[in-house]
Amino acid sequence: MRLPYSATRRHPRIADLDVPVTVAIDGPSGSGKSTVARTVAMAFDLAYLDTGAMFRALTWAALDAGVDLRDVDAVAHLSRTAPLHQSTDPAQPGVWVGQENVGRAIRESRISSQVSAVATNLDVRGELARRQREIIAGTHAAGRGIVAEGRDITTVIAPDARVRILLTASEEARLARRQRQTGGKAVTAATRDEVVRRDRDDSTVSNFTTAADGVTTIDTSDLDLPGSVEAVVTVVLDRAGTGSTPEGAA
Ligand code: C5P
Repeated sequence: MRLPYSATRRHPRIADLDVPVTVAIDGPSGSGKSTVARTVAMAFDLAYLDTGAMFRALTWAALDAGVDLRDVDAVAHLSRTAPLHQSTDPAQPGVWVGQENVGRAIRESRISSQVSAVATNLDVRGELARRQREIIAGTHAAGRGIVAEGRDITTVIAPDARVRILLTASEEARLARRQRQTGGKAVTAATRDEVVRRDRDDSTVSNFTTAADGVTTIDTSDLDLPGSVEAVVTVVLDRAGTGSTPEGAA
């Protein structure tokens, strides 16, 4: 996909820099971070890691295996043994549990409504953090940069990332976006649960509502998708597009 943003043509492509860059993007549900992160990865020819998909896939695997999500030890054990596999190609993001392509299934409301129970399990977070860092390091080792998005990428997973962004939007805007995605007009109780209740639960283990030091906040409440992408592209180019200092030194 090519983006019609003149800004990307005025600057060197990040992928051409000597040092592979990490673009870390966090944000609450409905902030638009997945679509924006993926589009930005494609624009700069970077890999893409959707960490939420990893938590969702583990939730799918636990339910598939009949594991009670309240059984923290059983879920933690599964996080260490489950054959989770993710594509980091932004043009074809995908997630598998063993041979099963669960890309669609993990977006169903039965997963959205239960994923926080898995994500608030601290042993699970430790194991998935290890897997996420391994993917980022492996991508860098192959000479490629990566856009990683989630709830704690800027703070826990990649605090030394050259570009760190918190994508926010008002609760009203986030509810309206989620509702549009499901095709309905009025905000339903299910949508409210998926946005408000889920963020409340998730925020007990990560801070994705206020920016940590060095993290740039972008409020997308009044921006459409191209506007949000352009805002992120501008920050990426500011932080990473004109130099090749090592990560953590910028
Ligand atoms: O971003 P997405 O809505 O797909 O994330 C699904 C869930 O994964 C979140 O509600 C949260 O429980 C969990 N998550 C997390 N930490 C991340 C990314 C996602 O806890 N870095």
